[in-house]
Amino acid sequence: MNEDKIMQNRMDREFFRHQSEYEESALRVLRSGWYILGKEVQCFEREFADYTGGKYCVGLASGLDALWIAFRLLKIGKGDEVIVQSNTYIASVMGITINGATPVFVEPDAFYNMDAEKIEQCITDKTKAILVTHLYGQASNMKMICDIAQKHNLRLVEDCAQAHGACYNHQQVGTFGDIGCFSFYPSKNLGAFGDAGAIITNRADIDEQVRVFRNYGSEKRYHNRVVGANSRLDEMQAALLRVKLKYLDEINEERTKIAETYLECLDRTKYQLPDVRENATSVWHQFVIRTEKRDELISYLNENGIGNIVHYPIPPHLSEAYAYLNHSKGDFPVSEKYANEVISIPIYNGMTQEEQNRVIDVLNQFD
Ligand SMILES: *Cc1c(COP(=O)(O)O)cnc(C)c1O
Repeated sequence: MNEDKIMQNRMDREFFRHQSEYEESALRVLRSGWYILGKEVQCFEREFADYTGGKYCVGLASGLDALWIAFRLLKIGKGDEVIVQSNTYIASVMGITINGATPVFVEPDAFYNMDAEKIEQCITDKTKAILVTHLYGQASNMKMICDIAQKHNLRLVEDCAQAHGACYNHQQVGTFGDIGCFSFYPSKNLGAFGDAGAIITNRADIDEQVRVFRNYGSEKRYHNRVVGANSRLDEMQAALLRVKLKYLDEINEERTKIAETYLECLDRTKYQLPDVRENATSVWHQFVIRTEKRDELISYLNENGIGNIVHYPIPPHLSEAYAYLNHSKGDFPVSEKYANEVISIPIYNGMTQEEQNRVIDVLNQFD
């Protein structure tokens, strides 16, 4: 059974589709003799900014770095509150708390994104920003979220780690607020071959500050303006990302096809299937279904060789890392319910029709 186990996610098939291009780019970097902050990063930054429709892109070492550097440069720290959704990946929350700011959790909606209707009741005189995560690949309710941010004069940061290319009203995520944070962790839709990240911004002041901050706060070598970080996107990852970026639309379209087949074929009497908001698109980073019999389903899928992962079993407010926030079970019932019921089924580029049919057959025969 192990030989033909279907993995929840795999990155090799997309690589082999364009193997020679990736290998040529890697060799070009190896042979160039220049490995940090060079032409590849410059070109990738231009190309990715153009792709998203944002003005500026700055390459960084990871998605988490993009998040905490965003809040650092927006001067949001100790004593400040940031509104963030309660079912997000914990890195979003760490981006806030690394700077000493306090996360204020708001429940998710039926699309697993921030419930915009519940934001205003969380705003206090300490609230400085909203961090919105476009979870599982779907763009959030950006019209309403932007209106609220503007009305209350709050900074808006987007966590786009799972949603490269997703749109709300034909505008790409990452371009709505002050700063859009991206991860290029290998399993993301636009995944590198190691750790990598970036910010997108329309603000020239932020672009300039991030550029300086990522390189020890130095504008000119050995002249350090601020205490910065070492968070540079390297030439190798940038060169490989330039190849993948050319195929990102194709990658997202293929995932959409897989998702459409699941939506058509999976038994809706057994599972709560995902839905896409009006005016929004999803790039289907994950295909997440829900059932109250989640734990039995996991054992059943494991027995039948179908890979699966729970994104995420412990919501940030119940994580040991955030015990100091003094939240308890029951504080955020929607995200706690999701944490108990969600399961991500196989979706990856290069998934064959046979593989998908088997996933569907096995799932529809559960119980
Ligand atoms: C992957 C991810 C991150 C972190 O990105 P890294 O590159 O792993 O640091 C942050 N937020 C979300 C929603 C993610 O999925």
